Amino acid sequence: SNLLTPIIEIITASGIAWAIFQASRTSIHLDAVIPVIMALYLSYEPIKKLGGIQNQYKQALASLQRLDEILDAEESIRDPEHPVECSKIKGELRFENVSFSYENGDGESEDNSPALHQVSLKIPAGEVVALVGPSGAGKTTLAGMLSRFHDPTEGSILLDGVDLRSLALKDLRNAVALVPQKPFLFDATVRENIEMGKSPYTDSTVEEVAKASHSTAFIEDFPDRFDERLGENGNRLSGGQLQRLALARAFFKNSPVLVLDEATSALDSENEEKIHEAMAELSKGKTTLLIAHRFSSIRLATRIIVLDQGKVVAEGTHDEVYAKCELYRNLYDRQREASP
Ligand code: ADP
Ligand code: MG
Repeated sequence: SNLLTPIIEIITASGIAWAIFQASRTSIHLDAVIPVIMALYLSYEPIKKLGGIQNQYKQALASLQRLDEILDAEESIRDPEHPVECSKIKGELRFENVSFSYENGDGESEDNSPALHQVSLKIPAGEVVALVGPSGAGKTTLAGMLSRFHDPTEGSILLDGVDLRSLALKDLRNAVALVPQKPFLFDATVRENIEMGKSPYTDSTVEEVAKASHSTAFIEDFPDRFDERLGENGNRLSGGQLQRLALARAFFKNSPVLVLDEATSALDSENEEKIHEAMAELSKGKTTLLIAHRFSSIRLATRIIVLDQGKVVAEGTHDEVYAKCELYRNLYDRQREASP
């Protein structure tokens, strides 16, 4: 593409030089040569553009190839051929000896230890459980498996006694509301972003869920309020605002299973306090998996599960776990010291 302009310019200049030379040899008058030179000069731009088309075409072809790679990629998570009918999900969860390893595409992974190792859990419908553990323990991995972002390499996960792999993906993902660690917002309006959470369980309006997630104040500050566009991946919002909108989306979804993956990590403590009230309201009657970054939110849970290196190392109420699990005690005490 960089060669194109110089080449055309050289050809043009040579053409003009040649025309003048021919004119002088054959005694053609200047008023006959001038139009020829003008014509050459005027054809310069269009010819350059024509050459550019080829370049753009090549670029588009390369982009298309990259898109095709994604569009033609084989889906590793498939809908079952005969999904189990499950219209009303209660939300009882069971992990039976679940193990999972990430497959690294390059084949050579620096550590081959599984992200989850023989995890067994039973969470009755409506219970709020906190999942605690150091960074890299496998909390996000476990949370993602409930929406079938990955399937267990071994063992199975059951919802209301049905293996997740036997449920239609649509039913499953309607039943599970996930607020991820890094929420994803689309370049659409506030209202559209919240409404994306719509499910058969939805029973509130966008305004109600905005209020419940303490988002109303900053939404009202936008010039277009609920019709404000958020920009690519909501990059016009602060981390706390992003998380509150993600919570609003989960409120709107109102699914029987709720997974909050460090959903309040970017909030300051005052807002966090308010959100906790909202989360308590939201988790009422829902099977809730609360992945807690700060221990303040653990109060919402009736049971604590401590995960370390993909294994469940302790389980029970705060007092029980605090007494018997050193890892938990360390994590808890360290945070108490950091923010008394
Ligand atoms: P946590 O949320 O508890 O911090 P994660 O579930 O994110 O932990 O990670 C558990 C383990 O799995 C870590 O060792 C991490 O390096 C690994 N892991 C997480 N995501 C991926 C991935 N997409 N590919 C490969 N390994 C991953
Ligand atoms: Mg995580």
